[in-house]
Amino acid sequence: MDQQLQQEGYFGEFGGSFVPPELQEVLNYLSEQFYKFRDDPEFKEELRYYLREYVGRENPLTYVERLSKAWGGPKIYLKREDLNHTGAHKINNAIGQILLAKRMGAKRIIAETGAGQHGVATATACAMFNMDCVIYMGAEDTRRQALNVFRMELLGATVVPVHNGQGRLKDAVDAALDDLVRNYKNTFYLLGSAVGPHPFPTMVKHFQAIISEESKLQIMEKEGRLPDAVVACAGGGSNAIGAFAHYIDEPTVRLIGVEPDQAPSLTQGVPSIIHGFKCLVLLDEEGQPKKTYSIAAGLDYPGIGPEHSHLKVTGRAEYATVTNEEVLEAFQELSRTEGIIPALESAHAVAYAKKLASTMSQDQIIIVNLSGRGDKDVEQVYQMLK
Ligand SMILES: *Cc1c(COP(=O)(O)O)cnc(C)c1O
Repeated sequence: MDQQLQQEGYFGEFGGSFVPPELQEVLNYLSEQFYKFRDDPEFKEELRYYLREYVGRENPLTYVERLSKAWGGPKIYLKREDLNHTGAHKINNAIGQILLAKRMGAKRIIAETGAGQHGVATATACAMFNMDCVIYMGAEDTRRQALNVFRMELLGATVVPVHNGQGRLKDAVDAALDDLVRNYKNTFYLLGSAVGPHPFPTMVKHFQAIISEESKLQIMEKEGRLPDAVVACAGGGSNAIGAFAHYIDEPTVRLIGVEPDQAPSLTQGVPSIIHGFKCLVLLDEEGQPKKTYSIAAGLDYPGIGPEHSHLKVTGRAEYATVTNEEVLEAFQELSRTEGIIPALESAHAVAYAKKLASTMSQDQIIIVNLSGRGDKDVEQVYQMLK
């Protein structure tokens, strides 16, 4: 069985698990428990209950008529992850993993966070399920994101600043993994994106696949057919893999992931191992993961989920980049045209959809995954535009 689980952690040459033996044992146990509960009817029912009553699912698939007309091409639909409780898709995964943690008897949840969005989603879910919550965050990041630190503390979490290394996300991940190895008996590591060693990418996809499960039914109901393209932004790749999941076996649907042109892991990365798994990684001249910079904190990651790496090299999905200027324009255009302020991350998908729309005809359909709302970004955009 171990052999088989190990195999399931691969997407072509990507994925797998490259970690010390003590951590591997913990991950093997986690895989086993995940596969056991994933298909358990009671677990599924409980997950559905919380997604409905707490997250607010299903969320709409909104036809944005004015934007479609303004772009002059295909019909544009937005999948409204921005309307979830806490304002983004991250809560889908946080609730799923915390329910698994409960089944596994964990009393304590740990997580890493960069800009703080995953930390906030985790702290929220922990508050609701009355779990102890420890969030590791690079010391440098705690200074830059003081308000998110306060948010997590309000929600009852303990935020631990990590001073090792550069005091950034990578160092927070290392600290969380360290904690897990020491405390695995009562602790669950709630990872925030479709990255990391097996089983995390498979597990995060499973909990985010609700996005395309819903959108597929919704588009069939509204249009009686599948979309021609699904567009999503890609940081670690969790909202994108969730938005793609139920279309991967539908060859007529183009799948397009969008990255910042300053962190183009999929467009320019090479196969390499980071954070315990193999994926396409942006490397610098010394062969180290490159320091990326994005105006959208959630997209600021030099790697990408292993399944996206595989979808890219096999050609099933396409990956594109947009510039900061295009993102800022899309941010404003969607706000002005439809009264929907997107997260800066999601504005990457909107910006690319605009370019794509100009190559398509009016009888075609694009679904854009609106991964989150932009309230968190309004002040930053104000500063940038000033
Ligand atoms: C975190 C975040 C992202 C990027 O993460 P993925 O794992 O690539 O989805 C995108 N959009 C929003 C709103 C986010 O909060």
